[in-house]
Amino acid sequence: MIAPNDATHGSGRTAGQVVMARLDELARFSAEPGVLTRLYLSTEHKTAALRVQAWMQEAGMDAEIDAAGNVVGRYEGQRPGLPAMLLGSHIDTVRNAGKYDGCFGVVAAIEAVAHLRQARERLPFAIEVIAFGEEEGARFPVALTTSRAVAGTLDAAALDALDTDGVSIREALQQFGCNPSGMASVARRRSDVLAYVELHIEQGPVLEAEDLPVGVVTAIAAAARFMGEVTGIAGHAGTVPMALRRDALAAAAEMILAVERVGRSTEHLVATVGRIEAIPGAVNVVPGGARFTLDVRGPSEAVRDAGVAHIERELKSIAGRRDVSVQLSHSYEEPAAICAPWLVDQLAAAVERNGIAPRRLPSGAGHDGLAMISLCPIGMLFVRCAGGISHNPAEAITSEDAEIAIRVLIDFLRHFASPGGSAD
Ligand SMILES: [Zn+2]
Repeated sequence: MIAPNDATHGSGRTAGQVVMARLDELARFSAEPGVLTRLYLSTEHKTAALRVQAWMQEAGMDAEIDAAGNVVGRYEGQRPGLPAMLLGSHIDTVRNAGKYDGCFGVVAAIEAVAHLRQARERLPFAIEVIAFGEEEGARFPVALTTSRAVAGTLDAAALDALDTDGVSIREALQQFGCNPSGMASVARRRSDVLAYVELHIEQGPVLEAEDLPVGVVTAIAAAARFMGEVTGIAGHAGTVPMALRRDALAAAAEMILAVERVGRSTEHLVATVGRIEAIPGAVNVVPGGARFTLDVRGPSEAVRDAGVAHIERELKSIAGRRDVSVQLSHSYEEPAAICAPWLVDQLAAAVERNGIAPRRLPSGAGHDGLAMISLCPIGMLFVRCAGGISHNPAEAITSEDAEIAIRVLIDFLRHFASPGGSAD
């Protein structure tokens, strides 16, 4: 428990238990019963947003739904109008989602504020909790729409993006009760915010493997994707002797193993071939071509790019030995979002003060921080999740870990200091 008699809403429940009950409740706001699918600007998103707004108000915050469909709650500091620490995460989900991805960070932040309010504590800065409406990119062919709006980097053309029913974000915003022309007003001024700090489930197995309830994120990974194309010579599977073959698929198989080996050779580098295709792809033809996808991520562009260069060298050498050719073409690139080192240190100190070894780890998955970093320094705290499973109904965390994460967050807020000066 955080302390006797606080943040338990008089029910004797711990903050962890309150949060778990609320996450169960939010999971019921879904497009289909028994399954959690809550897309941006859907009616279930509206119901969830209204419930989150009510929880914020109950925790002593002024709360409203902004023009992008975000729920924003504000808890003033020692005097009104101070710059704010932004906390939060997203309340949209993928299809057939788990209960914790996104929602945990929102509900836990509200609980941290409830705790401060119950203790009649005002900090030397304001706290704002944001329940972002759209992070996953599950309804419209865009992602991070609402955090980009807050960061002031949303391209107005994004509002014309259509869902599979032909409804644009602009129309969906109107149906939701928002005024799309007010979108620009959602953007924050840099001088009004101190930092953005997000609690999120790890969505990976590292903390569980190391028996740690929480970990401090150092960076959201830099990602790059490629299409690999191997060209050999097609031939008759019965007549071309083994020694004379230029089998593109066999070469690609060796290349996939090389990709795996390079990924394993560098800490925090991950490299994946997720799809492969043989050409012509017939039972009695030596494949003359092979195409595969390649996804490479690292905690910095430098680590990622060195990994890509290493993979390219390996692939060329395999191709040379097998007398085939290989071409890698770039299809997507996202730079790393580096968490501010001073925020990482302050989060790690809060973890340590709570008697937990401060494990630092990069995030391989994308988060709202990718957009928020254009506005202000970002930091993240990960919470252990069962089996590292996410984007799946089997997603699970424990009430004890939720409790620890909230305790660390409150402790971080109480000790927070802007680098080089007071918080305000
Ligand atoms: Zn998420």
